[in-house]
Amino acid sequence: MELYSDQYFMNLAFQEAEAAFERDEIPVGAVIVTNNKVIARSHNLTQTLTDVTAHAEMQAITSASSFLGGKYLRDCTLYVTLEPCNMCAGALYWSQISRVIFAAEDTHRGYRKFNTPLHPKTKVAFGLMAERSTALIQSFFESKR
Ligand SMILES: [Zn+2]
Repeated sequence: MELYSDQYFMNLAFQEAEAAFERDEIPVGAVIVTNNKVIARSHNLTQTLTDVTAHAEMQAITSASSFLGGKYLRDCTLYVTLEPCNMCAGALYWSQISRVIFAAEDTHRGYRKFNTPLHPKTKVAFGLMAERSTALIQSFFESKR
């Protein structure tokens, strides 16, 4: 795997999703990268923190802003294993993040279903590691039955 590729960073996000799975959380993971440096990594913690805002993306945004010492995430890329929801898309809008790359599409709760806008400066791509990310989430819910 080539270092500093989108694949490389998405794989780190996937590792975060696996960490969420281990904690009995819906397995979604995220990392934020600037200049090929990981400045935030997080996974969903809504159960652990009993906080519906504790999505991987929300935590990553907070960590990255704290690391950078500024509220805007220009020149940053978010890698996340599932399409962001409305809430996270809203937060990403305010962050003015440069790029958002998500793995699996979420046709039920993804931001695109609701036409939630990202910032006009934000470029979006998706599909990288989508199958593995979807399979991990499916196996999580199957384990709950
Ligand atoms: Zn979210």
